[in-house]
Amino acid sequence: MIKELNLRVLPEEAANEQTLRRAVCRETGEENDKIRALHVLKRAIDARQRVIYVNLTVRIFINEEPDREEFQDIAYGDVSKKKAVVVAGAGPAGLFAALRLIELGLRPVVIERGKDVHERKKDIARISRAHIVDPESNYAFGEGGAGAYSDGKLYTRSRKRGSVERILRIFCRHGADTAILSDTHPHIGTDKLPRIIENMRRQIIASGGEVHFGACMEKPVIENGEVTGLQTRDGQVFTGPVILATGHSARDVYRWFDRQHIPIEPKGFAAGIRLEHPQALIDHIRYRRPEGRGDCLPPAEYRFATQVNDRGVYSFCMCPGGFVIPAASAPEQVVVNGMSPAARNSPWANAGMVVEIRPEDLSMGRLEAFPDAGLPFDKSSPLALMYFQEQMEQACRQHGGMTQRAPAQRMTDFMRRKNSSDLPASSYTPGLTASPLHFWMPTCIADRLREGFRRFDATSRGFLSCEAAMIGVETRTSSPVRIPRDPKTLQHVTLRGLFPCGEGAGYAGGIVSAAIDGEACAERAFEITG
Ligand SMILES: Cc1cc2nc3c(=O)[nH]c(=O)nc-3n(C[C@H](O)[C@H](O)[C@H](O)COP(=O)(O)OP(=O)(O)OC[C@H]3O[C@@H](n4cnc5c(N)ncnc54)[C@H](O)[C@@H]3O)c2cc1C
Repeated sequence: MIKELNLRVLPEEAANEQTLRRAVCRETGEENDKIRALHVLKRAIDARQRVIYVNLTVRIFINEEPDREEFQDIAYGDVSKKKAVVVAGAGPAGLFAALRLIELGLRPVVIERGKDVHERKKDIARISRAHIVDPESNYAFGEGGAGAYSDGKLYTRSRKRGSVERILRIFCRHGADTAILSDTHPHIGTDKLPRIIENMRRQIIASGGEVHFGACMEKPVIENGEVTGLQTRDGQVFTGPVILATGHSARDVYRWFDRQHIPIEPKGFAAGIRLEHPQALIDHIRYRRPEGRGDCLPPAEYRFATQVNDRGVYSFCMCPGGFVIPAASAPEQVVVNGMSPAARNSPWANAGMVVEIRPEDLSMGRLEAFPDAGLPFDKSSPLALMYFQEQMEQACRQHGGMTQRAPAQRMTDFMRRKNSSDLPASSYTPGLTASPLHFWMPTCIADRLREGFRRFDATSRGFLSCEAAMIGVETRTSSPVRIPRDPKTLQHVTLRGLFPCGEGAGYAGGIVSAAIDGEACAERAFEITG
């Protein structure tokens, strides 16, 4: 017999299978040795009251063996002799597009400008160690895309529940812990992602697909208004419809569209800073336990959002027990982001704290050029918001000291518009430079952040803390450009055979939504190819 039940237990009871079994037996009256297996389907922490509970949905198998996991049934056949579809970019959108193409009986040819996920790791280490950013191999570029050395949080605001579960199952099929199928906030961890990505590549090749590294798409090949393939920088041509999944950091791709006068448009994004607190402080604010988090509770998370002066101010990509990382994709920038290992065991908690930027802010005169940036800022260009993003990243590098050191300020000093004479310890390994962010950040961002912090502290006392560091700048929240496509065929509005896909095209924000969009583009490509 299989039973499903909802349980409300103490963290100590939910801590491991043995303690959970005891709680299940107490609740159901079943004997422990009759329960053959116990699958946690959903897990959520309720820390709203003095006593903290864990709410669980559990499936129990009484005198019955559990089924095979559903994800084992996803079949990838041999497509070596089938028609090719070219996939530019091996981020989550590109990889999930490639795997879906195989399921549909098409041969994916993946073109990736960066290195494989293991070689890439060395270049990433050099950014922290030697402050050298390789423009082709960094936190944004290389196998796995921005998703490879990301945090690996797999929650999404996408409402396509079925699709989300399918994406999670495909992650499990390639080696992710099946706990992601049950957690309310599934998280893989930056240390586990590379192996999963490598397994996906192995599957693509084993099925007869191709994966080319160090192959940078220069331009699509266009014949009579139709994209028939792409050309790489070294002149190689790959033929087939093109799924363009090059991510939001491929500014050369946007520039190519702009130069060719092929329709693209500015898209709103969000910009601000990364805020780093000691994890123990966030645990204290969230769990309110004088004894601290203890062994049975995970490092606490937070999520804030408010509207200040008609624009959203919110926390973004919170990483409990994580690290702030140097996420620049070119040497002239300083950009920060956050990630955490599966164990979430660093002593810091970080999150982006960002302000919504809309295209109309350009015409309203709210976004101004950075005086020292020396970069173009043509407000009428479809790339205007990208120019603003670039200027902010360049200004950040100047204020950090022209290396990968990041400019930073204590949160309380920022509130008082006061320089920080020193900074708290930080996880950001290239190092921090004390800098008056209140002075040089655009006022449309700084003023809103200040008001947002006041409000967040009002609901979570202690959040506004001198132990917290604001680290500049967080700009790569989503794409500042959209590559418009037909909502039905998902092909570019003027170029048949081109499928703008994922975060870079403006249709996703995060790993799961990029993966869902990759699958959708593969399905539309199948319709014109199959
Ligand atoms: C540090 C960090 C932490 C993050 N944490 C999370 C998280 O916890 N959860 C979450 O959901 N999201 C997270 N994100 C965001 C997430 O990684 C992205 O939303 C997602 O990777 C977007 O997928 P994509 O495939 O559309 O683009 P990308 O992942 O950006 O992939 C684009 C790929 O295209 C390649 N490429 C670019 N130009 C070319 C070209 N001309 N020719 C060939 N190849 C090219 C790039 O090298 C790259 O591999 C994080 C991002 C970062 C940087």
